[in-house]
Order: sequence, then structure tokens, then C-alpha cells
Amino acid sequence: MSLASSMPGMKIITDERCAEYSSPGHPERPARIERTLEKLRSQNDLPIVWAPPGPPDEAAILRAHSPGHVARLNEQQDFDADTPFHPRIADYARASVGAVLEALKCARAGESVFSLMRPPGHHATRNTVMGFCYLNNIAIAALQALATGAKRVAVYDFDVHHGNGTENILLNQEGAAFFSIHQSPCYPGTGTRDVGNNCFNYPVPPLTPRENYRQTLASALERLKDFKPDIVAVSAGFDAYARDPLAQETLEAEDFYWLGQSLRRLDVPVFSVLEGGYSKDLPGLILAYLTGLDGK
Ligand SMILES: [Zn+2]
Repeated sequence: MSLASSMPGMKIITDERCAEYSSPGHPERPARIERTLEKLRSQNDLPIVWAPPGPPDEAAILRAHSPGHVARLNEQQDFDADTPFHPRIADYARASVGAVLEALKCARAGESVFSLMRPPGHHATRNTVMGFCYLNNIAIAALQALATGAKRVAVYDFDVHHGNGTENILLNQEGAAFFSIHQSPCYPGTGTRDVGNNCFNYPVPPLTPRENYRQTLASALERLKDFKPDIVAVSAGFDAYARDPLAQETLEAEDFYWLGQSLRRLDVPVFSVLEGGYSKDLPGLILAYLTGLDGK
């Protein structure tokens, strides 16, 4: 019998080996995880339970990606200007998948849970590695939830960039709905309007005042509630932060706290996965979000 569901605090799924690979000067760098681990370990306000990723599940990966896409991860050739090949990148990407699948299990067991891993995933489409993303962790988890009993799964993506890969994989998927709030115009240039019968996009102009940005985040959450999900998967990116170097938005740490609190108040199982967030303040933004999710 597991006592996990009665344990207080936040479960963080992580593996320090995800900081082993890097490219000089690349914003998606090991320090994002290393400094967040330091921050979380050196604080006492939020009780944390640490757990390793579960095993990667090949069948789950192949629900979201083509066999050709998975095979390409082993070819020693850069994918695009943003997304280099690294030795063993397929293993690192699979570890991120193992972490999100573990997060799904924990959420179903009633735990508050966050997957603190790299690489991120929300730009990876069924057939394309792009935007620092190799395998689409959140889409893999959403499809896994549907394949294992969930009837209605919502993905809420508050990364400042459109979750084009998640949209590509979940488009018109029965039982799934995708909600993305993001800066537009911005990378990758998609997400300017709703697509199909289940992908809802909320483009926000650059330099939108944070009150207005928050209203848009709240509107998307209202629409998500109307969908009546059994479980909510969150692509948690922290690059809509006012001082993030890759976008031009205005959110502050307390807005990420508010996001965590708002997601907790949905009162359905929620699990979150780290996507972007490139400022030096990332560890504090993650802690603010987790504190809101935890209910303090
Ligand atoms: Zn991003």
C-alpha cells in the first residue's frame, strides 16, 4: 500500500542527469535545472517529496510521434538552428517522457506534482524536432491518460510560445482539448486563432500589461472548466516573465503563484511539466508557481 497520496507537499520528479548535455551559449541550458534544484533544496516553506522519473514507455511515445521521428533522434545531425543534436539526446528525451508519465500517475493518486526535467517538449510535432524540443512530453501524457481510462483531458499551456507541437498532435483528438496562451507575434508564428474542434489559442500582443495578460490566462481557464476535464496537464513555461530574454511580456512571480493557485482551485487532478523559462530568476518563478499549486 502506498501512503503517497496522504503525504503533504509537492512531489518533484527529476533526475540530475538531465543537466548533462549542453551547447555553448544556448538559452536552454543545464543551469535552468541545477539552479532550480539548489533553490528548492535550500528552502523550507514548501515541503517537497523528491522522486525519479518512471520508465519511458515506447508505446506511449509512438501514440504521439511517428516511428521515423523517433529513429531520427539517433542520427548525429543538428535538427535546426535552435535544436542541436547531442550524444544520447534520445535517452535524455525519453527520461523527460518517463518523468511526465510518472507525474500523470502521481496526479491520479491525488498528489501535487511537477516534472522538473529537460529537454522540454511542447514544440515537437508528430514528425518534427524543433524549438529545443525532441519528444512532446505533455502530448504523450495526454494521450496516455486517454488510453488508460481518462475520458476528458485538458492541456493548459502558459509558456509564452505557442505550443504548436501539442496542437499538431492533439488536433481533433477525441477527449482532448488544448488551451494555449502565448505572445503573438513570436516564435514559432502559429497559434493566431483556434484550430480544429479542440485547440483554443489565446494570442497576446508583446508588452501586454500584466493585468490584461492575467485576464487572458483566466479566460482560457474558464473555457477549460467548461470542457469539464477529468485531468489537467499543464505545460508550465516561465518565459512570459517580464525579464525573460526570449520574449517581451510582463508577468511577475506573483502571477505564476496565481496561476498555480488557480489550477489547484479547479479541483481536478493536475500535473505540470517544465517547458521554457530562460531568465536568471527562473528558480524563484518555479517556486512561486509550486507554492500556489500547493495551496499556501
Ligand atoms: Zn517558451
